[in-house]
Parts: sequence; C-alpha cells; structure tokens
Amino acid sequence: MMNCVLCDSPIRKSFQTNDKKNYHECSSCGLIFLDCNDRLSYADEKARYESHQNSPTDISYRNFLNQLFQPLSQKINKDNIGLDFGCGPGPTISKMFQENGIKMDIYDPIFFPNNYALKAQYDFISCTEVVEHLFDPAKTLNLIDLILKKSGWLGVMTKIYDKSIIFEDWYYRKDPTHVAFYSKQTLETIADMMGWKCEIHSDNVVLFQK
Ligand SMILES: [Zn+2]
Ligand SMILES: [Zn+2]
Repeated sequence: MMNCVLCDSPIRKSFQTNDKKNYHECSSCGLIFLDCNDRLSYADEKARYESHQNSPTDISYRNFLNQLFQPLSQKINKDNIGLDFGCGPGPTISKMFQENGIKMDIYDPIFFPNNYALKAQYDFISCTEVVEHLFDPAKTLNLIDLILKKSGWLGVMTKIYDKSIIFEDWYYRKDPTHVAFYSKQTLETIADMMGWKCEIHSDNVVLFQK
C-alpha cells in the first residue's frame, strides 16, 4: 500500500499514460504524482534545469513572473524581507522585488544551496514553478513553514490541474521534471494541513498566509 506524498492518505487510484509513465491520484487531497521509478536521475534533472536558461534579462520570463509579483507585492511592506525558494539557475523574481526596494534572499537546493536561508525568518516567500518538481511536497512545505513568519505570505506559481484538462495530453505533465500536480482541492488541503489561509488568484497563482 502506498500513501500520498502530500497528505499521507492511502492511494486507491493509479494509472499509466500512453508514454508509459505511472501516476498515483489521491482521492483525499486530489494530488496526482509520478511514481518514484519514473523520475529522472538527479543528473538528468539538473541538466534539464540548466537548459531552461531563464534569466532576469528575459522580458517574457519577467512577464510570466509578474503574475505572482503583482499580487504578492500587494501583501507586503517596503521593510519586509523575502526569500525566493527554488529560484533555479537564473534568479529573477528576487531582482524584481529588489528593483522595487524590497530585499529578498535566494535559495535553491541545486543551484544556490544557501543553508543560512533555511535558518532565517522571512516576511514572505515566493515559490515559482517549484512545487510541481517536488518528490516530497509535505517535507518542503514544513520547511517553508519553519522559515515563514507568522502572518507572512507564501506565493506559489504552478499550473493548477482541473477536471477539464485531459491529463494524458497536458503539456504541463509532459515536462519530465514535473512530478506533482495540484488541483484547487489540493491547494485547499495544503492550507488546512498547515493552518494557513489560501487565496487562489488564477489558474497558476495561489497565495497562502501563515
Ligand atoms: Zn493526498
Ligand atoms: Zn516546472
């Protein structure tokens, strides 16, 4: 018997897509996650991130991140300090906040493993295109909870799954580094589990308040 990697409920539904990947779907929180045997190796995963070439000089990447930057910046003050958790090889949203006079640290387990960030306390944390890559989302959410101040905000970007999407054909699923897919129900379960409040802003932006 396997349990959900987010809410720990027993998994009753598993399926295979036509590209021979195996997924598990949690009936309790709605998370769909890739079987651990179908994950990329660490080296392949890292190579894939390095090939993305996101950078602060890329206007379309800035526009993409602006979808989170706008609502998150409404929630914070000039003297707040934030963390970009999982910033990847080309940290960008931290630059966008800094250009607006707000200090932000960066952390990435592969590219910027600044362990001091994991011992600090932040007023806000951004997590853009990160949660869909997590093998153990419960562990990472607990870590984020430890470094987020009470009443602080966590801004998450991930494409939210809903039943109108044909999972098999979904471009977001086909990224080989994407291993976990969240529905609205999953995001609400996270808020319940963590004792946070949850505001879903669009089909790829959610804000949590501790
Ligand atoms: Zn679950
Ligand atoms: Zn991603």
